Amino acid sequence: MKYIWLSTPHMSGQEMKYIEEAFRKNHVFPNGTNVDGFEGDLKKFTGAGYVSCVSSGTAAIHLALIALGVEQGDEVICSSFTFSASANPIVYQKALPVFIDSERDTWNLQPATLEFAIKDRIKKGKKPKAIIAVHLYGMPARMDELMDIANQFEIPVIEDAAEAIGSRFNGKVCGTIGEIGILSFNGNKIITTSGGGALISNKQKYCQKAKYLGTQAREDLPHYEHSEIGYNYRMSNICAGIGRGQMEVLNERIQKRRENFFFYKEALKDLPGITFLEEPDERFFSNHWLTAILVDPGKTGGVTREHIRLEFEKLKIESRPVWKPMHLQPVFKECPAYVDGTSERLFNLGLCLPSSTCITDEERSFVEESLRKIITGQRRDA
Ligand SMILES: *Cc1c(COP(=O)(O)O)cnc(C)c1O
Repeated sequence: MKYIWLSTPHMSGQEMKYIEEAFRKNHVFPNGTNVDGFEGDLKKFTGAGYVSCVSSGTAAIHLALIALGVEQGDEVICSSFTFSASANPIVYQKALPVFIDSERDTWNLQPATLEFAIKDRIKKGKKPKAIIAVHLYGMPARMDELMDIANQFEIPVIEDAAEAIGSRFNGKVCGTIGEIGILSFNGNKIITTSGGGALISNKQKYCQKAKYLGTQAREDLPHYEHSEIGYNYRMSNICAGIGRGQMEVLNERIQKRRENFFFYKEALKDLPGITFLEEPDERFFSNHWLTAILVDPGKTGGVTREHIRLEFEKLKIESRPVWKPMHLQPVFKECPAYVDGTSERLFNLGLCLPSSTCITDEERSFVEESLRKIITGQRRDA
């Protein structure tokens, strides 16, 4: 059996036609017709009014913060339970991340804690400049309650939908509910451009500003005129060609990710101590980027997620602990954090199972059977 990876790129076979076209026209540079085409495809898929492709999801978050006026000394609220790329751009702006804990069912921003934290920051003298709401592992955050709170305090929301392309809350596409949404096309995401990202919004000004700042803040003049500090955050026209080929199969890919989740859930339903990150009610539609489980050693007879991960490794199965919360990261230890232990517990118990769209039925069954053996003790001391 080959190594079974957590989440790998999966080409549609249509990518090369866009790349070859770029080569034929000698459009081997950033931006260009493939970038325009990819932006059009993303606009159609998400229903967002405007899309600006950039070099990464991280760059998109950085530009979103700048577009919302985040500056040195500002505070920005961010979900603690996420990948560091959600929070790093806050520090690029010399602003201060304020971390908020998760709720148990979606693993995303806890609305009551968010409200408490906003009031507390205001009491301490500073109203947060923006809120970064993450849709982790594809699971939509509780956007109705979060938006009510954000609107009440008039704080703009950036949706980090890097892991949530195609996910929906109450029929609304993740990334199009707040002021600005960001997507990632890194190699491990549902679709990839090898590396890339996008900023999406229903307001033209944000996408325009992002494109301009990401193109060295070059003004529309024949000579190179600059009134602001810019960045080279452009997407390569070759990478965008991969993206266009990937868009042709995006719906199938989402379907397969969801199928992976439902397979594991059904196959493991009788195993004690294993629970899943699952849609709390019918308003939540997750793309199930990665199938994430919690392993409760109190119910598995002492088997921990780390035990499973190491046993999997011996069997050439890649699994990974869930993200370590930002408030527990050495680099962010000085940042204010409004936490109640929820994400810390998720971190201690959580494991992501192999979730690639190119995983075979045989491989998936091997993962399931292996997990079953580890838990039922047959591999406890193997
Ligand atoms: C992948 C990811 C990002 C960053 O995207 P890149 O394209 O890798 O820069 C941001 N936030 C989350 C939650 C992610 O998973």
